[in-house]
Amino acid sequence: MPYEGVVEGIYLVGGAGLSGPGDCCVYLVDAGDGGSVLIDAGLSTAPGPLFQNIEETGHRVEDIVALVLTHSHIDHIGGASAILERADCEVVAHEADADAISDGMATRTAADAYGVPSPHIEVTRTIRDDGGTLNYGSAHIMAIHTPGHTPGNITLQMEVDGKVLLFANDVHGPFSRAWGSDLDAWRRSMNRLIAIAPDILLEGHYGVIQPKGPAIEFIRDMLEQDMRMM
Ligand SMILES: [Zn+2]
Ligand SMILES: [Zn+2]
Repeated sequence: MPYEGVVEGIYLVGGAGLSGPGDCCVYLVDAGDGGSVLIDAGLSTAPGPLFQNIEETGHRVEDIVALVLTHSHIDHIGGASAILERADCEVVAHEADADAISDGMATRTAADAYGVPSPHIEVTRTIRDDGGTLNYGSAHIMAIHTPGHTPGNITLQMEVDGKVLLFANDVHGPFSRAWGSDLDAWRRSMNRLIAIAPDILLEGHYGVIQPKGPAIEFIRDMLEQDMRMM
């Protein structure tokens, strides 16, 4: 399956229907001069289709300058090892999830629930609190700490062509004590995202939701559901 263009320089390159059945949505951000930033990596231990989609956007896997992990779950970080074999890139995550990722904690990464080994992926740039802006070439990506689904969950905000984009990963949950989920924190985080009023919501499994009305409605709908801890 080919990639999906979102707006100029932003591509959906991975996901359950795009790269592999267990993959989260993987987004590629053009950073100019051939470079790019990858947001999440999918579950993939067979990264061929993901790599092919990246190449089809006109970018090389070798030229990825940063891999930003939105949270510790295996369906978002599992593909990192294959990417790091080809790209000499920074690996970015929030400090509250970084240890789970670096130490390969099978419970916190949900690798045990998936029945797969938890890789040890070295986080080379740690975000604290709201992380400010990550600058990679022409890509300026603001990191917002949105705990709830996991303690170190981050949402990434960009402005492209006058549109506000939120890469908000697993807005829909689910939630588990084993992952350190916190429902009250999640509600606060989701209300922060609503207040930003995104034009485009780039969800972790539901894909690209736009324009502003449906994007906000998606988050509101989740808040109105009777979410429970697993
Ligand atoms: Zn998750
Ligand atoms: Zn997920």
